[in-house]
Amino acid sequence: MGNELPFLSMEIVFMGTGTSHGVPMIGCDCNICTSDNPKNRRTRTSIHVRMGNHAVQVDISPEFRLQCIAHEVDHIDWVVLTHAHADHVAGMDDLRRFVDFREGGGVPVYAFDEVLERIRLMYPYAVRDRPEFRGYPAFIPHSVDRHSTLEFPWGTLETTVLPHGRFEVMGLVFTEASSGKKFTYYTDCKSVSEEARELARDSDLVVLDGLRHDPHPTHMSIEEAVEVANSIGAPQTYLIHMTHHVDHDEVDLQLPDRVNLSFDGLKVRL
Ligand SMILES: [Zn+2]
Ligand SMILES: [Zn+2]
Ligand SMILES: [Zn+2]
Repeated sequence: MGNELPFLSMEIVFMGTGTSHGVPMIGCDCNICTSDNPKNRRTRTSIHVRMGNHAVQVDISPEFRLQCIAHEVDHIDWVVLTHAHADHVAGMDDLRRFVDFREGGGVPVYAFDEVLERIRLMYPYAVRDRPEFRGYPAFIPHSVDRHSTLEFPWGTLETTVLPHGRFEVMGLVFTEASSGKKFTYYTDCKSVSEEARELARDSDLVVLDGLRHDPHPTHMSIEEAVEVANSIGAPQTYLIHMTHHVDHDEVDLQLPDRVNLSFDGLKVRL
């Protein structure tokens, strides 16, 4: 794992790693919200995956534009949405810049049907093949089945379902064809089924929802995420979507080998 590998097949950019409130939280003077450690500053969760010249953006947080500038993201071929909670879709208007880069071609957006329905309600002006006017956004919806294997020029994306309160979240397993490198992304979930663990088996990297120490009705706690990480057994697992209860350096030290907390701006090459 890391930059010393002799080839680059997949680069994962952690654009944001925080829960829906972000960290620091508005009007909070706790130790973590007032911390000087940049790893304790978390924008809302999303991931950018580069494979050669191809780029997949997973979720579009309210800070998407700022994340793109901070992490030098200027090219997106496909958008995949895990679910339609605001912290994962509220930045989509900012895709207008990427539509410009495509010379007016809409950006393909892959999601479950109910997520696409929500996107049509939120952005009625943008669900179309080409922008209404130059500079406007355009999203081309692609309906994804619960359990599917999607073929892309870079390899395959397998999907599964993760429970998240009243929502079903899309779990994602990327396999890059030229190297066989495998990356599993399971955000926003209360648990990971045996079937989803099996799908993640042999991943080079796994990312799991790990909200905080205290249990939560719709997210895995850090302890629950560690149990899933150990059962999948990847060489490296990162937790994501943390609250302001989680001090990066303190909690990261307590985690078992091969499990770490992510932080905004982390880049992992496989
Ligand atoms: Zn706080
Ligand atoms: Zn959510
Ligand atoms: Zn979320």
